[in-house]
Amino acid sequence: MKTIGHMINGELLDNAERTQDVYNPSTGQVSKQVALASQQTVEQAIAAAQAAFPAWRNTPVAKRARVMFKFKQLLEDNAEKICELIGEEHGKISHDAAGELQRGIENVEYACYAPELLKGEHSKNVGPDIDSWSEFQPLGVVAGITPFNFPAMVPLWMYPMAIVCGNCFILKPSERDPSSTMFIAQLLIDAGLPQGVMNVVNGDKVAVDTLLHDDRVMAVSFVGSTPIAEYIYATASANGKRCQALGGAKNHAIIMPDADMDNAAQALIGAAFGSSGERCMALSCVVAVGDQAADQLIEKLQTGMQSLKVGPYSDSSNDFGPLITKAHLQKVTGYIDSAENDGATVVVDGRNPTVAGYEDGYYVGGTLIDNVTPEMVSYKEEIFGPVLVVVRVDTMQQAMELIDSHEYGNGTCIFTRDGEAARYFSDNIKVGMVGINVPLPVPVSYHSFGGWKRSLFGDLHAYGPDSVRFYTKRKTITQRWPSAGVREGAQFAFPS
Ligand code: NAD
Repeated sequence: MKTIGHMINGELLDNAERTQDVYNPSTGQVSKQVALASQQTVEQAIAAAQAAFPAWRNTPVAKRARVMFKFKQLLEDNAEKICELIGEEHGKISHDAAGELQRGIENVEYACYAPELLKGEHSKNVGPDIDSWSEFQPLGVVAGITPFNFPAMVPLWMYPMAIVCGNCFILKPSERDPSSTMFIAQLLIDAGLPQGVMNVVNGDKVAVDTLLHDDRVMAVSFVGSTPIAEYIYATASANGKRCQALGGAKNHAIIMPDADMDNAAQALIGAAFGSSGERCMALSCVVAVGDQAADQLIEKLQTGMQSLKVGPYSDSSNDFGPLITKAHLQKVTGYIDSAENDGATVVVDGRNPTVAGYEDGYYVGGTLIDNVTPEMVSYKEEIFGPVLVVVRVDTMQQAMELIDSHEYGNGTCIFTRDGEAARYFSDNIKVGMVGINVPLPVPVSYHSFGGWKRSLFGDLHAYGPDSVRFYTKRKTITQRWPSAGVREGAQFAFPS
């Protein structure tokens, strides 16, 4: 059986000190093994990155950007293969995988813009014959640790910008679906990146902890669940590293009584069940204002959900595929059981769907639960499955208070025809990304992505303009050339 190793200094290594099974969640069968790096292997990657840094830092930024142009081309040329690898190990249907890859490519496009982004700031004559400018210098060796749910896109949020800014990178992908991530990293090498600038170590906590404790690693970007994000942020910060750690979510949609219910129901079906709900921006909770709005919406959701099809990634007529592991399947169905036991109403039940020929796959069908209340675990926690819960409230103010008091603040949206309500909501809600009649308000690559509250630890958001700041440090230089020979009457007394 194939073992996925590491990529260090431009070479594939099979230092497989320990290994872990990689599953095909559509069939429930083990398909590969992944190596779990030891401390020594990670240190080897850090040393390679550190050795590559001086030359890469001094490579003209336009040349660094040219590698990204080539990389983008290779990503497009290999899109089908990448989507197949995502499908095999994550379970995403090809149209969904293609969407993920496209969003990743857009981050490479933004990185191509680096010569413009890194121009810096200049002020002439800040004093007599004195000029001052700020420039943005790379940090050195930086690391990224990524989750299973976007094995192509989330790493592409990080390393194209880090690398084009002049840093050298070590990526620690999710050990659950590493193949597409590894394949894409190899394309970056094929695009002409010098050895050691990009390295990938597969692994678990051992690899992560080595990156967090090594003094040569200057910054860490993390995306994953909130408990791990908090640990990463606390440990990296305590060790003097710059850190941004993006965590989990519970994204609410307010349905106002005046909303276009057909549009809202259609939008919610895609946003709640797409990718099996395994998205940090999945819309997982409806807050209906008034019973009439709730009843109308639920009726339309029920109708729309009748045609939802769950099945293996290889059949592109499916709407969504399996969950990532058997343990996660049990966790998701456990949340549905708990909602039912707590007195909520399971309106559409996706537990134990029949997927002929794939009986061992990790499938849950689209599930809709009404009358969920804020004390229930199924409301409080991130389910990360194709489960949409409905909470009923009487006023918009109550809906906003509910959202504001939730521990997560990644994304939210409102469905309404009332501009005043929408404006008040977007201005005041304590959430980082807001949609108005848009269910998944994921910022495009030239804006930045990040939640509030316990959905993000750190100051700077991911990708976009914030990532240029995250992967560089500002240096401000003030300059004066006291040469009396050039201009008569020049004054070189030190200015006060
Ligand atoms: P996870 O936290 O289990 O794993 C993320 C990474 O952390 C992996 O690389 C994993 O190997 C590593 N890791 C896991 N346990 C660790 C430990 N104890 N010590 C050190 N490292 C550890 O997350 P996941 O299940 O892969 O991904 C799903 C989660 O990610 C969800 O909560 C989802 O909301 C979140 N997510 C957030 C965003 C965002 O932008 N906010 C985006 C995607 C996913």
